[in-house]
Amino acid sequence: MADGNPWFERRSHCPACGSTRFTELFRSPYCESPIRQYLVDFYEPQGKVEFEYLEGADYILCECGSCGLVFQRDIPGDELMERLYEHWIVPVKREKRDGLAVSARYAQEIMQIIAYFERPPSSLSFLDFGMGWGQWALMAKAFGCESYGTDLSLERIRHAESIGLDTVDWNEIPSRSFDLINTEQVFEHLARPLDTLRYLRRALTDDGLIKISVPKADDIHRRLKRMDWKAPKGSRNSLNPVAPLEHINLFRRSALLAMGAAAGLEEVRIPARLQYRFATNWGGSRQIARNLMLPVYRNLLKRQNYIFFRKARVAAEAAA
Ligand SMILES: [Zn+2]
Repeated sequence: MADGNPWFERRSHCPACGSTRFTELFRSPYCESPIRQYLVDFYEPQGKVEFEYLEGADYILCECGSCGLVFQRDIPGDELMERLYEHWIVPVKREKRDGLAVSARYAQEIMQIIAYFERPPSSLSFLDFGMGWGQWALMAKAFGCESYGTDLSLERIRHAESIGLDTVDWNEIPSRSFDLINTEQVFEHLARPLDTLRYLRRALTDDGLIKISVPKADDIHRRLKRMDWKAPKGSRNSLNPVAPLEHINLFRRSALLAMGAAAGLEEVRIPARLQYRFATNWGGSRQIARNLMLPVYRNLLKRQNYIFFRKARVAAEAAA
């Protein structure tokens, strides 16, 4: 509970690294503008917003003094989460709007991962954690990998099963064993990201990888100064990376690494040569520039919020 509103939970420590050293960046009531107007603009086109769940609650943005995570302090509890993701956002299948570029990107990423393992695809087992409509898992299956998906949404699980995907229940995860656990745009939504990462680690093979890909906004202080809640997603001033109720964690690279370390994981890089070898979409000068620069951003400049983790070796080697 947070300040008398029963639908919210209050976070008492940084959900990425566990530190209690954090400061408040911004606070504003949900039922007053600008947040109220933002919620109307954001949810009405895709469903609705029920303000009765938000009365008396504040949108509170904090920043961890230890790992740099920017996070919402009061977050929807389980029931409000369910209202939000299953009722405010009407779960409609949106893949029709996804073009060839999306499939090409999935294929490219999956090829790079398979190449990293240097094993036949049929010997690899992948889990897409937060699979959405299952497109990524389906692509991994097309390459011959054992491919599983999981999602909170029953609608999506039913859909996955209808297109021939195997699904895994949350409770089953620790008893399973995966070479790769994919999380694409998932960790920014999680109430307890460190706990979830520790949980997923239990389902990892000794050489297995967990991929975390999350939104990025290292200039969040500048964006908060502009405070333009109408700035479109993806634009320079967009506040979507800290979208109220949904993007409850905004990771800096330092926060991802701190969370990984706290979960007994270390970063591993897919070699740039493999990233180049399996880059697929060379249509147009923009795409060519992107293909050429992306491995540099990832491996050398470390700019992307796109990280692969494996079980930490340092402690094991020191003990040996
Ligand atoms: Zn932290």
